[in-house]
Amino acid sequence: MTDNKTADNSTNKQVHGFKAEVAQLLKLMIHSLYSNREIFLRELVSNASDAIDKLRFATLKSPELLGQDQTFRIQINADETARTLTISDNGIGMNQDEVLNNLGTIARSGTREFFTQLSGDQQKDAQLIGQFGVGFYSAFIVADKVVVNTRRADAKASDAICWTSNGEGEFTIEPISKDQRGTEVVLHLRSDSEFDTFLSSWQLKSLIRKYSDHISVPIEMREEKWDETEKKMLSTDAWQAVNEASALWTRNKNDVTPEQYQAFYQHISHDQEPALSYSHSRVEGRSEYTLLLFVPKKAPFDLWDRSQRHGLKLYVKRVFIMDDADKLLPTYLRFVRGVIDSADLPLNVSRELLQESRDVKTIREGATKKILSVLEEMANDKDGINDDTRYHDFWQEFGQVLKEGVGEDHSNRERLQKLLRFASTRNDDAAQTVSLADYVARMKHGQEKIYYVTADSYLAARNSPHLEVFKKKDIEVLLLSERVDEWMLSFLNEFDGKELVSVAKGGLDLGALSDESDKKAQELAQSSHKAVVEHFQTVLEDKVSSVRVTLRLTDSPACLVASEDGMSNHLQRILKSAGQAAPVTKPILEINPNHPLVAALTEQTQGLDDWAWLLFEEAQLAEGGSIENPAHFVARVNKLLLHRV
Ligand code: ADP
Ligand code: MG
Repeated sequence: MTDNKTADNSTNKQVHGFKAEVAQLLKLMIHSLYSNREIFLRELVSNASDAIDKLRFATLKSPELLGQDQTFRIQINADETARTLTISDNGIGMNQDEVLNNLGTIARSGTREFFTQLSGDQQKDAQLIGQFGVGFYSAFIVADKVVVNTRRADAKASDAICWTSNGEGEFTIEPISKDQRGTEVVLHLRSDSEFDTFLSSWQLKSLIRKYSDHISVPIEMREEKWDETEKKMLSTDAWQAVNEASALWTRNKNDVTPEQYQAFYQHISHDQEPALSYSHSRVEGRSEYTLLLFVPKKAPFDLWDRSQRHGLKLYVKRVFIMDDADKLLPTYLRFVRGVIDSADLPLNVSRELLQESRDVKTIREGATKKILSVLEEMANDKDGINDDTRYHDFWQEFGQVLKEGVGEDHSNRERLQKLLRFASTRNDDAAQTVSLADYVARMKHGQEKIYYVTADSYLAARNSPHLEVFKKKDIEVLLLSERVDEWMLSFLNEFDGKELVSVAKGGLDLGALSDESDKKAQELAQSSHKAVVEHFQTVLEDKVSSVRVTLRLTDSPACLVASEDGMSNHLQRILKSAGQAAPVTKPILEINPNHPLVAALTEQTQGLDDWAWLLFEEAQLAEGGSIENPAHFVARVNKLLLHRV
């Protein structure tokens, strides 16, 4: 170790300094996370349970690790006289390097991230603990001294380690001897009387039931008996399990309360908010497995990192195999948390094997369908009790991720399409609440297509000049402004037999929605503007593929549209800003013959070049694009203004 350690040769004791972030974290715990202090017990029990899971897994290869100590258990013991609370397990334990790495000198990956997420709100900040793998340090909320005695399952009794710290910048480690494998965390509770509750066996039992009932190993406390001479309950030497001690997902659905499901969710996700919804099912047949899946309420901080491992805990026949088994669900469902317990996979399954396994494929398909059902149920539960807004909450948080599914998951595309929600010209705000089915249900008589516009922001979409004719004819248009939208739309050509079309692409064919007078007006305008159109075409030859008269606009003089088969102008901008070479497809310039500026041009013979450029550049600006040569633009505007004065 190269950290600032000092050795005390007489006792073999080493003093180490915590890494800066850890020291800072400890301060925070001690001074500001008081309000939620009971969570320390959940964190320590959770670590003990993880340690037992790890050993259980290791014994698949090396059964001899168990030795005489065959029964896994976690024990909790309070000593009123010494004011200590001890949580011990007979799990995997730690050797010296592991103690150093896990409990102090190396900042764990989440620690720094944790600090960036702090809000200053005690309640909220307390909830962040654990989410970032900093659960152990919560011990210092209630203790002013913590001692960890630990012996790795493969180490001799004389090779155990004792870690001690008062949480103030330093910790010590020294070799000790320990009879049993595993870890013992001794908390020296702070002296204020408010910490006494953590010495009361009655209080402890109720906390264990509240937070840790679902832990699959027995959590034992000393049995108590009434003592006639002392006139109070006294601990005996016998241990007694306090929790249910069967893995929650193996229980019958009807025997599990919603509170128990939510407590389990907190245990696996470290999320303090309850899950929005969950699904628990056992599948039997060609493949046999149990699913317990949760849809969280809030996105984790790294949701957008697609390479980040997310996903589920994989168990095989109740033995914990691995965390973050990302092959068990498609990437677009990476927000889902939960457990999958397979009866078919081999116990020695590796990540590589998961990739190829047919059983995994079956499970993945089954799990995907289950989650889609959960989402559908939330989405359809509009008139649920208490004005259910769960799906709206879900969509706000995870809608952009779910949209990836439209492109990724062919087999469920139809179900996914129904789950999409959009902002729309029908609503006054940016809320994405309109489904494609809603849209289709209120399509106008004679309307055959689903219209949408894409832009960089909701406001740009909302104010797009392309919407003008739709507003005039009172036709609803969906407003899309998220990055994933353009990509998704390339997989979303139709819904319910209705084609989805961009209002900024191709010739505007409103089909039966346009009436005879529209057509007449168009023809008339075409002939009266023939000269202007031809002139513009020559001037803008390098910039646009053609110029034409349009009835698309009511208020704006001009707009750009993409050709039918070309890439939308919006997508071209996205690609360009992402540094990708987009094939350049020239847009079409459409001019509005009813606009006074354009109408006046038919009588003009001079200065038409400037007008061509000006209308073209205005159209670029109006759709949220930028113009190539702003100085020329300004000069042209000024020149035309001067004509007026
Ligand atoms: P997390 O559990 O999220 O990894 P913690 O801060 O709770 O973060 O624990 C840090 C690490 O310390 C654990 O990952 C584990 O390696 C080790 N550890 C903590 N408690 C125990 C224990 N009882 N037995 C073995 N290892 C433990
Ligand atoms: Mg932990």
